[in-house]
Amino acid sequence: MELLKKSESGKGVSHVKISNPESFKGKEFIKDATGATSCEISFGSLEPGEAVPFFHSHKQNEENYIILKGSGDFQADNEVFSISPGSIIRVSAECKRSMRCTSDETMVYICIQAKENSLEQYTMEDGIITEHTAAW
Ligand code: ZN
Repeated sequence: MELLKKSESGKGVSHVKISNPESFKGKEFIKDATGATSCEISFGSLEPGEAVPFFHSHKQNEENYIILKGSGDFQADNEVFSISPGSIIRVSAECKRSMRCTSDETMVYICIQAKENSLEQYTMEDGIITEHTAAW
């Protein structure tokens, strides 16, 4: 992962780049690189036939998985369902989850982890249209 930009004040903006998300392999956590304060984002991959080797739950964070490439099965408690590119899976903190890759290609996914029930306002409730001049 490459750090492209971080504001000098430590606030404002940071920009990191996964060099090639399509061929990503392994697990990479992003929060420390960006300085995010509201969520943890990770990139993950599973090879064909590979499963996450454990089930897990969380103490307070829900997770949202976004499948970018590859397909397989997701299990949440005792419920199993198919996942494929475009699948977005929200899992509550206490739910036990795991997944496996059943496709011939590597599965690549993003996981966004944030405190359950912490989102108080969003989109136009939280957004403010501001006067600013484009610099591009
Ligand atoms: Zn987790």
